[in-house]
Amino acid sequence: MPELVTERAELRRRCEQARQAGRAVGFVPTMGALHEGHLALLDAARREGADFLVASIFVNPLQFGEGEDFQRYPRTLQRDLEACAGRGVDVVFAPEARHFYPPDFSSRVVAGGPVARWEGAHRPGHFDGVATVLTKLFSLVGPSVAVFGRKDFQQWRVVERLVEDLDLPVRVVGHPIVREPDGLARSSRNLYLSEAERPRALAIPGALTSAHDLWSRGERRAEVLGRRVEEVLGPAVDEVDYVAVVDARTLEPLCGEVADEPCGPVVLVAARVGTTRLIDNLWLGVDDPPQRPAGD
Ligand code: AMP
Repeated sequence: MPELVTERAELRRRCEQARQAGRAVGFVPTMGALHEGHLALLDAARREGADFLVASIFVNPLQFGEGEDFQRYPRTLQRDLEACAGRGVDVVFAPEARHFYPPDFSSRVVAGGPVARWEGAHRPGHFDGVATVLTKLFSLVGPSVAVFGRKDFQQWRVVERLVEDLDLPVRVVGHPIVREPDGLARSSRNLYLSEAERPRALAIPGALTSAHDLWSRGERRAEVLGRRVEEVLGPAVDEVDYVAVVDARTLEPLCGEVADEPCGPVVLVAARVGTTRLIDNLWLGVDDPPQRPAGD
């Protein structure tokens, strides 16, 4: 089993010790309810050279807005510890919120870079909450490498900016999305989906696959790609927050013919199925399309 650490000072001490012993610290921050997506990030951190692996499991109140799912977010620490043991994690940091943010905690890191649109627009304050928790975690862990999932594509770009702007001595790696066999992006929030809702959620990867089909056949008009996603998604889900075809670096929306470069645009999707808000994306020209249902 990994060592379970709940206190900030203890985490700093364990990571300091590891560095002094010449070990490269790798870090994967999570909110727990671990699934294959998270575990792939842990494996990636090892491949990136980490020989002391730290995972944090912390449902960070600062990144949830009013009326969001902070209270009901799944908390499965015991199972998560077992999953981490299977991946050779050295330390799991799972603090209590009241210790991580003591009563007099009052500073915030304001996130920059591509924060204005998409998740930033739909979840005001979200990226500041992410930037604040990560700045604290990076300070405590002192990782040489930290791995993030491209499932949260915008978050990954915002974290790259944060690290660059604040000269944080950590290398940020973005890992491809890990999906269920039927194509649904793995997410702790998939646990919220009822039996009836789950098939409807498959419209999300289905819509991204349709855009990929068009892209493979040479379609380069951003509006046409975006419209196809909306057409597939719209009838199946309860609400579409956004569908956007964006520049992979700036996350600005594209229009007209997109440049035919090997790394194409990213199609971003956020939609609600029942009470569950799901996000997904596909980096055209880079990512494989989500799996098609058998026989399709
Ligand atoms: P979370 O626990 O949802 O905050 O996610 C923690 C990290 O795991 C983030 O960097 C996510 O982008 C990443 N992640 C979550 N789901 C997936 C997935 N299906 N594939 C790859 N990375 C993921």
